[in-house]
Amino acid sequence: MRKPIIAGNWKENMTHTDAISLVQTLSYELQEKDYDRAEVVVCPPFTALRAVQLILENDHIPIALGAQNLFWEDEGAYTGEISGKFLKALHCDYVIIGHSERRKYFNETDETVNKRIEAAFRNDLKPIVCVGETDEEREAGSTEEVIGRQLRDGLAGHDISKMVIAYEPVWAIGTGKAATPEDANDTIGFIRRTIGEISDAKVADGVRIQYGGSVSAGNIAQLMGQSEIDGALVGGASLDAKSFAMIVRY
Ligand code: PEP
Repeated sequence: MRKPIIAGNWKENMTHTDAISLVQTLSYELQEKDYDRAEVVVCPPFTALRAVQLILENDHIPIALGAQNLFWEDEGAYTGEISGKFLKALHCDYVIIGHSERRKYFNETDETVNKRIEAAFRNDLKPIVCVGETDEEREAGSTEEVIGRQLRDGLAGHDISKMVIAYEPVWAIGTGKAATPEDANDTIGFIRRTIGEISDAKVADGVRIQYGGSVSAGNIAQLMGQSEIDGALVGGASLDAKSFAMIVRY
C-alpha cells in the first residue's frame, strides 16, 4: 500500500517568524489520526528551515521537513548555494528537485535534476522530483513525450523506489485551474508505466506519485479518489494552515 504524502511548498514566502506561526497553527489544526492517514511534509524557504525544525522537534510534531532545492556539491566555493549536507544537518527528510519554477527561472535541466538527485541520496534526503508539461506542450500533444524525457533523463541511474514523483502540469501551477482528476490520473498512470520501463514493475507499483497544480480544499477529495494519485504537492493553499489541514484531511 502506498501511504499518501501531502507536501506544502511554501516557495519564496514566509520569513522565519511567519514560518513559526504557520507551522504552530498547522500543528493545532492537525490531529494524530491525520498523520496516520497521510504523511505530511512542509518545505519552507532555506532561511526558515532552522526555526521550523526547532518547533517540530521541540513540540514532537510528526510533520516532516523538506527543502525546496539543493546544490549538487556538498561544500566549496559556490557562493549562494545550499547543499544536501547542510539540509541534512537541519534534519530535513525531503528536498524538492526540478520544480517548474526552477526550470523556468533558473535554467534547470534534466541533467542538473539528475545531479541534484545524486546529491540528495548522498546525504540521505528523499527527493520529490517534479515533472510536467507546459501549456504549449500540452496543446501540441507532446505531454507524454516531454514527461517521458524528463523521467528518463532526470532519473537515469538512480533508485526510483527512494523518491517521490510530483506530476505538476505547469499550466495548472498557481493559476487556480487544476487538471481534472481524470486527466491527472491518466498522466500519472503514464508516469507509473514509464517508471516500470525505466526500472521494474515492483518499483513502479510502490513509488508514490503526487499531483500538484492549484490543489485546494475543494478539489483534493476528487483528486485523491483516483487510483494512481498518491498525494499532493501544494503551493498557494499550503500557506494557510486551515486550508492545508483540510487538504491533509481530504
Ligand atoms: C507548486 O508550487 O508546486 C504548486 C503546485 O503551486 P500551487 O498549488 O499554488 O498551484
